[in-house]
Amino acid sequence: MGMVNGMKSHYRVVIIGGGIVGSSILYHLSKFGWTDVALIERAELTAGSTWHAAAGFHVLNDDPNIAALQGYTIRLYDEIEKESGQSVGMHMTGGISLAATPERWEMLKAERAMYETMEMETRLVTPEEIKELCPIVDVAGLQGGLYDAHEGYMDPHGTTHAYAGAARKRGAEIILRNRVTELHQLPNGQWSVVTEHGTITAEHVINAAGLWARKVGQMVGLNLPVTPMQHHYLITEDVPEIVAMDREIAAITDLEGFTYLQQERKGVLLGVYERDPRHWKTEGADWDFGMDLLPPDIDRISPELAIGFERFPSLQHVGIRKWVNGAFTFTPDGNPLVGPVPGLKNYWVACGCMGGFSQGGAIGLTLANWMIHGEPGYDIFGMDVARYGDFASGNAYLKAMTGQFYARRFVISYPNEELPAGRPLKASPCYDSLKAEGAVYGVTWGMETPQYFATGQSNFAEKPTLRRSNAHDFVAAEVKAVREAAGIFESTVYARYEVSGTGAAAWLDYLLAAKLPAVGRVRLAPMLAPSGKLMGDLTVSRLADDRFWLIGSYYLQNWHQRWFAEHMPATGVTLRNLSDDWMGFAMSGPNSRKIMERLVTRDISNAAFPFLACAEMEVGLAKAVVARLSLTGELGYEINVPATQQRALYGALMEAGADLGLKSIGNRALDSLRLEKSYGIWSTEFTQAYTAEMSNLRHHIAFDKGDFIGRAAALQEREKGAEKVLVTLAIDTVDADAAGFEPVKLKGKLVGYITSGAYGHHVGKSLALAYVDKDVAASKPALTVDVIGETRPAVILAEPAYDPAGKKLRL
Ligand SMILES: Cc1cc2nc3c(=O)[nH]c(=O)nc-3n(C[C@H](O)[C@H](O)[C@H](O)COP(=O)(O)OP(=O)(O)OC[C@H]3O[C@@H](n4cnc5c(N)ncnc54)[C@H](O)[C@@H]3O)c2cc1C
Repeated sequence: MGMVNGMKSHYRVVIIGGGIVGSSILYHLSKFGWTDVALIERAELTAGSTWHAAAGFHVLNDDPNIAALQGYTIRLYDEIEKESGQSVGMHMTGGISLAATPERWEMLKAERAMYETMEMETRLVTPEEIKELCPIVDVAGLQGGLYDAHEGYMDPHGTTHAYAGAARKRGAEIILRNRVTELHQLPNGQWSVVTEHGTITAEHVINAAGLWARKVGQMVGLNLPVTPMQHHYLITEDVPEIVAMDREIAAITDLEGFTYLQQERKGVLLGVYERDPRHWKTEGADWDFGMDLLPPDIDRISPELAIGFERFPSLQHVGIRKWVNGAFTFTPDGNPLVGPVPGLKNYWVACGCMGGFSQGGAIGLTLANWMIHGEPGYDIFGMDVARYGDFASGNAYLKAMTGQFYARRFVISYPNEELPAGRPLKASPCYDSLKAEGAVYGVTWGMETPQYFATGQSNFAEKPTLRRSNAHDFVAAEVKAVREAAGIFESTVYARYEVSGTGAAAWLDYLLAAKLPAVGRVRLAPMLAPSGKLMGDLTVSRLADDRFWLIGSYYLQNWHQRWFAEHMPATGVTLRNLSDDWMGFAMSGPNSRKIMERLVTRDISNAAFPFLACAEMEVGLAKAVVARLSLTGELGYEINVPATQQRALYGALMEAGADLGLKSIGNRALDSLRLEKSYGIWSTEFTQAYTAEMSNLRHHIAFDKGDFIGRAAALQEREKGAEKVLVTLAIDTVDADAAGFEPVKLKGKLVGYITSGAYGHHVGKSLALAYVDKDVAASKPALTVDVIGETRPAVILAEPAYDPAGKKLRL
């Protein structure tokens, strides 16, 4: 092996960037046995956002999967300190999120319950306890707070060096003061890494370039949805109350006040999430940007500072020692971008991380797992780079979304709230027609999708709430239409792929765990990872011997296509993503055949076109691919047409169904209808955290068909059984339904958690799906569920609440 200016001429992995994230990846790769790894840093370790971070840390995150991984990061600090001999400067002071309104208090109660689900101990505290834990808070007007003992702050320099030092001890290399200037992919898939001090090769490269990540993406023609933004904190002189204490104050997040505060020596650090934020160098920092601060913009942040000085009155009487205005990066949803980039072999990203001290360890752990074992090991969709597509990296979209995220960092977001930034970006040809019908839109992967129809009310405004909202009755009417007549649901939430070619059947047979359907038939097909974890719940339609359609979730397009590409044979199979080229409607309800019959020329009687049949046919003027199935549990048809013909299809359906009670329905009604049938969906019941055995998808697996991805693991679990299994609960609630991750308890002991919930309008029950311990699932004892922090009785249903025998589907 040759040397190039102190570097080896080849490494298995080159990490670009020596901030907290790059250093954690270096540590984890070397810890898991990959030591032929070099971290190349433009300047010094920490020279990006890391050196001037407030370096506070916490477990709390809106995504429970990420929250659990933040817990891992925090638990790791002891270990890297010991291994490296380098102090991380840990101050585990505990931290409190304050509630200054009844709505926030309710939210914190719900959050506490969610942390209980994750077996993380947090507790609600009274204003008096807040004062005791942090005497400089003025508790006037506070309802209470949520206390977490595992919060605090640390030394950013020490922590980064602890990761790096521990990695170095294990044989990893750190190359400083050397910028990566170009990346070129070689014919063998490896990378030529051009640096200021010479060119080397690497099998894999990782973009952990923080403030420069977008530029390092552009070296390979990649436009990442990540942008730096400005962020301020101030550090005060000594605060007398703190000087008088013999312990540290708890860290405080004043959610209604837009500030956070932690002890800094005998003074405090007060940080601000202002409502009028500013971007900085959207395209990425300049290459020669040093360890510099940006000029403070105190006027702009003064409205929030004024609230902070009221909440912490002692700050009015002490001097300010230092203002910090620094930049760090944001993505549209505030979570990092991690993983292999779809379509770019051996190029990995670990950037867009706004909480390096809470998430750095998690990113290192999952990325190292992924590189070494082929899977991240946890459900990290919430930070997977493949959760975004091209649509997300346009400058205007990115600025709108990150600006909204930053400004709302501490603002309550309700589950029924649809935020306005970056919309509408993508819409179907029927957008205006559905809007005229009263459609209230949400968004998935940039695509506008109807949530419900505020029929007959032109200025309807839904009240954001954790409880049932004033849109409840609209949803009830939609459910009633489907159960008694017919409803159409615009299927923009679907992704469609055509798989064709001489090798199509053999490939799909290996990729999917189900038996492939015969020509003219459809089947639900779980897709597994080698570990047996779910990778998809696709429906596969066979239109010809060597031509199939796969239907999945619209927002999973990049995620699924990355998986497809990874397993695609070199020849014989063609995969086309039709998701934006084809659209349609899913119609279901007892009258749906009558409506269809008015529009088709072929026989679609139950005998000629039974449940799970599929065919190409004309529907009105449109040329459609039709499959007979539904997510509502009723007789139904999924009608797919070229996007340009969707308007024609809509007109035809509405006209044909006018006297048969046909009604447009949205996502919310679909949720109610599918829960009445105990149907799970991807993102809640089915994710890469679960297996087929747990999620009842095992029944769709063809163990006898020969080998397929995940077969060995699924077989093993079939023999051994899963620890937790999916069940349906009916919960005795008053005016709220379960939403997800609420704890399920047996005599006060945690036995499971909710995945999704909704009111079953037809059966008149509050329903939920939940993973519970297998003995609980079998014995079905009386349980409780904490809904918005309130303990409510619940029972496990022995069968789906609606049409348990599945007769309606087959009518
Ligand atoms: C004012 C402020 C307060 C903050 N407070 C907190 C907090 O309390 N808690 C918390 O968790 N987070 C906080 N953060 C955010 C935190 O700083 C970031 O999450 C974290 O630093 C991101 O680390 P990183 O490794 O991804 O990026 P960076 O630290 O930006 O590191 C990227 C590195 O890549 C190097 N690099 C880039 N391009 C190249 C190239 N071509 N070749 C070689 N090297 C290259 C850079 O020199 C840099 O060292 C704060 C940030 C700021 C600015």
